Amino acid sequence: MEKFTQNYIDSFMAELLRRNPGEPEFHQAVHEVLVSVAPYIMDYPHLRDLKILERIAEPERVVMFRVPWTDDRGEVRINRGYRVQCNSALGPYKGGIRFHASVNLSIMKFLAFEQTFKNSLTTLPMGGAKGGADFYPRGCSDGEVMRFCQSFMTELFRHIGQDTDVPAGDIGVGGREIGFLFGQYKRLANEFTGTLTGKGLGWGGSLLRPEATGYGLCYFAEQMLERVGESFEGKTVLVSGSGNVAQHAAQKAMRLGARVVTLSDSDGFIHDPDGLDEEKMAYVLELKNIRRGRIKEYATKFPGATYYPGKRPWGIPCDIALPCATQNEIGKEDAEALLKGGCRCVAEGANMPSTPEAVALFLENRILYSPGKASNAGGVATSGLEMSQNSMRVHWTREEVDAHLHRIMSDIHAACLRYGEESDGYINYVKGANLAGFIKVADAMVDQGLV
Ligand code: NDP
Repeated sequence: MEKFTQNYIDSFMAELLRRNPGEPEFHQAVHEVLVSVAPYIMDYPHLRDLKILERIAEPERVVMFRVPWTDDRGEVRINRGYRVQCNSALGPYKGGIRFHASVNLSIMKFLAFEQTFKNSLTTLPMGGAKGGADFYPRGCSDGEVMRFCQSFMTELFRHIGQDTDVPAGDIGVGGREIGFLFGQYKRLANEFTGTLTGKGLGWGGSLLRPEATGYGLCYFAEQMLERVGESFEGKTVLVSGSGNVAQHAAQKAMRLGARVVTLSDSDGFIHDPDGLDEEKMAYVLELKNIRRGRIKEYATKFPGATYYPGKRPWGIPCDIALPCATQNEIGKEDAEALLKGGCRCVAEGANMPSTPEAVALFLENRILYSPGKASNAGGVATSGLEMSQNSMRVHWTREEVDAHLHRIMSDIHAACLRYGEESDGYINYVKGANLAGFIKVADAMVDQGLV
């Protein structure tokens, strides 16, 4: 790298750390994009003079608020809610809501920053945002979850709207939570609009939205494999997580002919050497979505499988890994274990699941590796399609939505190829996704003046 580009990166990061102390996930996400786009910014000095990336790294608005509620024992509980509206150059803010004990400002800012580039990649008119609270629905009754969601929305509603900011689900926020949040929004705003996505099918939701992130991930991975003359057929696949993204990634990979041998949650993982099939998949959907059980129960139901408490799946030999749980779930040692086990493709369903050290190893070893902002963009893209259907008051068929999703994932893949090819022909999907996402946002910001 040229010396003056490295100087720019160093001084950018020094200033970012000074302005945002104690936010390691946010620093990590910005650094990854900065390294990819700095050479481009050096080539187009007006982007540097206008401080475009500096502005993207300073959210347009951050809202933090108290969320008081009462649990089933009558005890008063207090959580902290967030909405980080990162960038609106391309459209109304759009991004999920996460309910998890680990939620803090750093995680919200990293996710909103990532979302800005991801939404740009989808080619749909959406800015980037993220929100959430340090509340985790696990173990709570339906009544407690409803009271929490109502209190959360009682503050959030004044900051969102169908043309302002359109939240969706994320970790800990599925169909049940979106229903409660939407109900309270409708009551407070006195309007029935598409202000949230991931709605129920009978009241404005889109077909295929629940499946979209996991299916889109597999469509993207299929394109990566196809480019090197391979496919999912007969491959051994590791999936982490067992929530929304993991379930549908596992299901689609299995239907594309792969042998999916792992699923996990924050307590451990199951290894099923025979692989998932439709019957086992139906069990997982019922276990996680209806009974809200734990993945270890899978090994009791299907004795061919083994449960490994407190462990991650990355030591199991495989061809393809689809991390679909959470950020930084693949560290350096996990990446080494994956490479040792024969893994040739890592496609991210979660946001930033690989640490910088793990990403460096994947790139050094020239395996197929796609960052979440490219390969998991099918979820927000289908949320964008839900917004279009709500605005037009129409309902597309499953096939229509699937065709849009397929096309969008192919377009994102093509954008990565366009901007990510290195001199030896290797596709650096990190560089490709970051540059393609950045250029569109940057150009819009230049056009819109200093705001
Ligand atoms: P869910 O809440 O449905 O599932 C999350 C899964 O990950 C659960 O199995 C959960 O286990 C596990 N998990 C959560 N935190 C940890 C942790 N710290 N360590 C190990 N496992 C953990 O969330 P989603 O499936 O919606 O989201 C998964 C990932 O995909 C996130 O990174 C999210 O940002 C990303 N994503 C989601 C999209 C969507 O459309 N939903 C769109 C794009 C990205 P447990 O039950 O034990 O907590």
